[in-house]
Amino acid sequence: MDVLQAVARELVPHPEAWARLIELHVADQDGRCRGCRSQLRAAERWPCALHLVATTARDLARPDQLREAPRSPP
Ligand SMILES: [Zn+2]
Repeated sequence: MDVLQAVARELVPHPEAWARLIELHVADQDGRCRGCRSQLRAAERWPCALHLVATTARDLARPDQLREAPRSPP
């Protein structure tokens, strides 16, 4: 996921951008992304690439506030 990381790094100084992406790219009841929904094609499965980029940027910007750490100590 090097491209994802690279894009996330570019977004780090723009908190309004990744916050908006996180806000828009949420799952609907079918597990598809609301932010990626289009009239032309089915929505991407959630979490979509933009959600992952935005949450990665958030985690890079706020390393002490990780909310979705995969492995948290007990
Ligand atoms: Zn999306």
